Amino acid sequence: MSSVTLKINREYVCDVLVCGGGVSGFSAAVSAARSGADVILVEPGGFLGGTATKGMVGPFMTCYDAAGKNRIIRGLFEELVERLVSEGGAVSYLDCPGSDSRSGYRTSGHIGVTPFDIEALKRVTEAMCLEAGVRLLYHNTAVGCDTDGGRHITRVYTADSEGINAIDALVFIDATGCAALAAKAGAGTMRGDEDGFVQTSSMFFTISGVDKEELDKHMYLDGDMRRRFYMDEIEEAKSEGRFSGGTLKLRIFEGLGGIWVVNMAQHDDPYNELDSGELTKVEISQRLQILQIFNWMKETVPALKNIKLVATASDMGIRESRRIIGRKIFTGEDIMNAVLFDDRIAVCANSIDIHQKVGVSYSTYKAESNYSIPLGALISRDIDNLMAAGKCLSADKYAFAAVRVMPPCIAMGEAAGITAAIAALDGIDVCDVPAESVQVEIAARGGYLE
Ligand SMILES: Cc1cc2nc3c(=O)[nH]c(=O)nc-3n(C[C@H](O)[C@H](O)[C@H](O)COP(=O)(O)OP(=O)(O)OC[C@H]3O[C@@H](n4cnc5c(N)ncnc54)[C@H](O)[C@@H]3O)c2cc1C
Repeated sequence: MSSVTLKINREYVCDVLVCGGGVSGFSAAVSAARSGADVILVEPGGFLGGTATKGMVGPFMTCYDAAGKNRIIRGLFEELVERLVSEGGAVSYLDCPGSDSRSGYRTSGHIGVTPFDIEALKRVTEAMCLEAGVRLLYHNTAVGCDTDGGRHITRVYTADSEGINAIDALVFIDATGCAALAAKAGAGTMRGDEDGFVQTSSMFFTISGVDKEELDKHMYLDGDMRRRFYMDEIEEAKSEGRFSGGTLKLRIFEGLGGIWVVNMAQHDDPYNELDSGELTKVEISQRLQILQIFNWMKETVPALKNIKLVATASDMGIRESRRIIGRKIFTGEDIMNAVLFDDRIAVCANSIDIHQKVGVSYSTYKAESNYSIPLGALISRDIDNLMAAGKCLSADKYAFAAVRVMPPCIAMGEAAGITAAIAALDGIDVCDVPAESVQVEIAARGGYLE
C-alpha cells in the first residue's frame, strides 16, 4: 500500500535506513555501518545533533550510576566524548564533579555531566558517520512509506525542496524524536500521559560575559536554594509583570569558551508540537520570552550585568512527543524496581525528570539503583523491520522521562544500529535477532550491561 503518489526524483537503496539525525540517529547509523551494513541517514536539517545542536540543549547529562561513582553509559557515548575532548570541543565528565558552574550549580543528579561545543558536535558526529561509511542525506524529511500489507516497511519517501525521493531498505530505524516513520507506517504509537499531555517544551539560548568569579561566590555562599537561584527575585518580577513565563529559578550552565547555556524559557500551556502551525507560534512567543528573561538577568543578577545574548535555538527544545508502541513498554515501575531485563541493551541511573504544568505535575524521582532498558522497547510491536531509538522508544511517561537524556539516547541508538545490522545482514526480522547477539556486540564495543 503506497501513501505517496507523486513523481519520484531520486531513488536510493541501502540495508538500513535511519530517519533522524539527532544523537540517537547518529549513534544508530554509525553502529549499523560499523557492523558492515550499508546505511543511509536522512535528516531535515543541514547537520547532525538534533536537539543537541538545533535545540542548543546541553550539557550531556550524567553517565554515572546512582551513587555517582561508576560510569555505566559507555560504548559509543564514551568514544564521542573522548573525540570531542581531543578536539577541545567538550569538557570530560571526569572533570565535572558536580555542584559547580558546569552542572548549573546543582547539587544532585549532576555529577559527571559533559558540557560540549555545538559546532564541535556537528563536526565530530558528521566525521564519525562518514568514517563509518554512512551515507548522509540532509534536507530530507520522511513523509511516507510503503508496506507489504502492514508487516514490513519496504520503501520510505522523503521530501526535499525539489520533490519526493524514495529509499528502499531492509531495516528502518525511527530516530525522528516523534515516531514520524512509525506513524506513517500505521504502527502503534503513543504520546504523553493518559490524557495526552506531554512535558513542557523550552527554547534554549546562550549568553557570554558572565562574571564567573562573582557567580561562584554567590552560589557557594550558603546552601539556601531560594537565595542561590534567585527564586524570590523571579517571583517578584513575575508579580510585577517583568517575567511573564519561564522557570522559577536561575538555570544556567557553563559551556565552552565563555559561552553559558540558559535553560529558563519554557512554554507551559498544552499545544500540539506535531502541528507545525502551532509549533511556529510557540517558537515566536519563546523568543519574546527569552528577551524578557535576558533583561531580567542583566538587571537582577550582579554576576550577569554585562551579559550578551549570543544565540537562541533555531528549533524549539521538545522534551516529549509521540513514541512507538514496542514489543515491550518500558515503565516507571521498572525503574523503581531496578529491573535488569534479560534483553537489556543499556544500564542507566538517570532520574525520572518531568517538567510539566498540566496533567502530571512537575516531578522528579531519583533512582536509588541502576536499572536497564530492554531491547523489546526499541522494536515496533506491529512492524517486524522497524526499530526506534532515543525519544521514540516504547516507554510510559515515567520511564521516558528518565531515559530521554542524551547518554541513554546514544546507548539506545547504538543498540538499535547493532540489531538492525544483524537483521539486515542475516536476512531476518529485527524481532528475531537474539538479544544475546546484540549484548555480546555492545560489550565488545565497550558498553556496560551488568
Ligand atoms: C528543553 C530540553 C532540555 C534538555 N536538557 C538536557 C540536558 O541538559 N542533558 C541531556 O543529556 N539531555 C537533555 N535533554 C534531552 C535530550 O536533549 C533529547 O531527549 C535528545 O537529544 C533526543 O535525541 P534524539 O536523537 O532521540 O531526538 P532529536 O534530538 O529530537 O532528533 C530527532 C531528529 O530527527 C529529525 N526528524 C524529525 N522528523 C523527521 C522526519 N520526518 N524524517 C527525518 N528526520 C526527522 C529532526 O530534525 C532531528 O534532527 C533536554 C531536552 C529538552 C527538549
